[in-house]
Amino acid sequence: MSEQVRGGCLCGRVAFVIAGPFEAFHWCHCSRCRKDTGSAHASNIFSSPDSIDWLSGKDEIKRFDLPEAKRHAKAFCTHCGSPVPYIGRNGAYLIIPAGTLDGDPGIVPQDNIFWNSRASWYESGAAAEKYAEEPEDRRP
Ligand SMILES: [Zn+2]
Ligand SMILES: [Zn+2]
Repeated sequence: MSEQVRGGCLCGRVAFVIAGPFEAFHWCHCSRCRKDTGSAHASNIFSSPDSIDWLSGKDEIKRFDLPEAKRHAKAFCTHCGSPVPYIGRNGAYLIIPAGTLDGDPGIVPQDNIFWNSRASWYESGAAAEKYAEEPEDRRP
């Protein structure tokens, strides 16, 4: 598929469009991805390195390559801290944090990797009650 999908960071300074194809979609539960995202898992879509066009904010992006890791890296908007797409350390893929996309990438998660490292609360959260929005009586 070669549909264009727009994306960007929380503050809006960084914006981009990705032409695809979206080749893979993995949820990674490894401890590094949990730290990196502050959440239960990373949601990473893979595309080819030349599939992205930066519309704005490229100079606002900082990249971090975890020194002791072979592959783990991240990039983020220095103003709002949101993760943004980056080229993998081996140069072979564009890695897109799926939540940065505004539209439907037309691909769904294929698997959960590093499942044995998942957060102890992950499955309980996925199974917990669903509300359309934040309920008034559930504020901490
Ligand atoms: Zn931002
Ligand atoms: Zn991971």
